[in-house]
Amino acid sequence: MKVSLASAMGTCFGVQDAINLAMSPEFNNELTIVGQLVHNPQVSDSLKKNGVSLVPGIEDIDKIKTKKVMITAHGAAEKTKQQLHDAGFIVYDASCPLVMRVHQTIKSLVTKGYFPVVIGQKDHVEVKGIVGDLDDYLVINSEEDLPKIENSGNRKLGIVTQTTQQRDKVEVLVEKIRALDYVDEVSFVNTICQPTHDRQVAVHELADQVDLMIVIGGYNSSNTKKLVHVCGEKGIEAHHIESFDQLDKNWFTNKQHVGITAGTSTPENVINEVHTKILEIAEE
Ligand code: SF4
Repeated sequence: MKVSLASAMGTCFGVQDAINLAMSPEFNNELTIVGQLVHNPQVSDSLKKNGVSLVPGIEDIDKIKTKKVMITAHGAAEKTKQQLHDAGFIVYDASCPLVMRVHQTIKSLVTKGYFPVVIGQKDHVEVKGIVGDLDDYLVINSEEDLPKIENSGNRKLGIVTQTTQQRDKVEVLVEKIRALDYVDEVSFVNTICQPTHDRQVAVHELADQVDLMIVIGGYNSSNTKKLVHVCGEKGIEAHHIESFDQLDKNWFTNKQHVGITAGTSTPENVINEVHTKILEIAEE
């Protein structure tokens, strides 16, 4: 059985920079992360072991016990940061620059008179941050959401995407929006981030070669789930795991070529453990 790794996978620079900041010795048990820094259980555990406290979101502001707080790589609305400042916290901002680019892009579209539309998941922390400072907006995630555009009464739309969206899905949706009779003008800026794009291209290429794909990442990681989705679209058997001990030897029976990929919040050591275990299975 041949085993291949995707040419791009695992932790992106935005997530790694945020983890490095949170692990900095200067905080010395005096930091609370507001929101999940990354959607990965191993990273969250090692942060807790290093004395970093976590609260799920700004709604839990009353539970924060440290003076220093950190905004995650997913970003946050300016008013969320202001709320923390006003409450007396020292705010460290680990927002990924590519998420901040989405914030700036949508604000610029609004300034130019476009009604803001985000293609993404409305309950995802990144999307909440993108729309958090806007007075009015729409979040669209599928064709079923298109009637919301007509209902909003807006004909001049400025569209951006959550950074971890799938390019093909976004392109199809934007074309359908452009084709709507009641839409006069669309300004679309593709804000899928480059690391996500690279991982999607890599999983497409690898999925064309393998008959089984192992996808590693947190079960609540949006971009990891999309990697699994790509395999499903190509008819490739795929298993989403968080760590090597979830591998089931039965998956590998009669398989010729196994691919391994991982979401942008999956640490290198977790990928290496899975790779090593699969190589052991291949030799049995
Ligand atoms: S997935 Fe993209 S936008 Fe999100 S943290 Fe990584 S590089 Fe930044």
